[in-house]
Amino acid sequence: MEELITRAARDIVKAKRIVAITGAGMSVESGIATFRGQGGLWEKYDPEEYGHIYTLRTAPEKAWIMLREMEREIIKAKPNPGHHALADLEKMGYLSCIITQNVDGLHHEAGNREIIEFHGNMREVVCMQCGKRLKITEISIEDSPPRCTCKGAFKPDAVFFGEAIPPLALSRSQQESRSCGAMLVIGTSAVVTPAAYMPRIASSAGATLIEINPEETELTPLCNYLIKGPSGKILPLIVDKIKNDLANLSV
Ligand code: NAD
Ligand code: ZN
Repeated sequence: MEELITRAARDIVKAKRIVAITGAGMSVESGIATFRGQGGLWEKYDPEEYGHIYTLRTAPEKAWIMLREMEREIIKAKPNPGHHALADLEKMGYLSCIITQNVDGLHHEAGNREIIEFHGNMREVVCMQCGKRLKITEISIEDSPPRCTCKGAFKPDAVFFGEAIPPLALSRSQQESRSCGAMLVIGTSAVVTPAAYMPRIASSAGATLIEINPEETELTPLCNYLIKGPSGKILPLIVDKIKNDLANLSV
């Protein structure tokens, strides 16, 4: 493990321009469960039904049964040491951007600035009738469904099943993936496309892929190495190594 931490620190320093792609695992230590894991929401709800834009438009009170549970967790959550480590990496000038599949806004809260939110953000809601935008803390999520003063139902500002990835997020992610020297693949099972294509784009452009996950994933064979463990523990170790040992790593 010690050896892999040093290897990652060295690869980051050497690559200079790195990109991190993050998934639900990144926020597990902030108290937000993954969808697919044990006790995850997808054991209770069929995502393609409850999380489909058609359900939200035609039966918002039904979609909000699942959304409310997610929002309760997101409102309470705070960035964990893994989020803070990525914020440090950006401040130190190594991290070009984060491509995140998460909708919890925790990278923003940790202080990162260059964030591509592939699936939007559930910390804001938009009225489906008049377009009014509010913070999640400004509405009553216990209402079924939460409604705007114009009586329209609110939609979390996230990408639902049946909706396209915002085109700018997609094109910027592709460009960042093509041009980075190393990519950190953190806490994602890498089965949701097109986000899952980004490590493949980076790899075929010659980037070093460093995976951080307690489990192997479909991407593991593509990655140069896997550092097995929770990101809230591994990322601070890598950043500390860079901070304390930079002179030795650069040679
Ligand atoms: P996923 O649920 O499919 O996979 C999560 C991955 O995280 C797994 O590979 C698991 O082994 C790993 N993991 C578990 N604990 C970890 C830890 N402590 N540190 C590092 N890794 C850990 O998640 P996904 O690939 O991101 O895809 C699910 C979709 O659901 C995404 O589109 C995402 O937007 C959404 N989602 C978001 C949140 C959030 O915003 N926090 C939470 C759940 C799901
Ligand atoms: Zn409205």
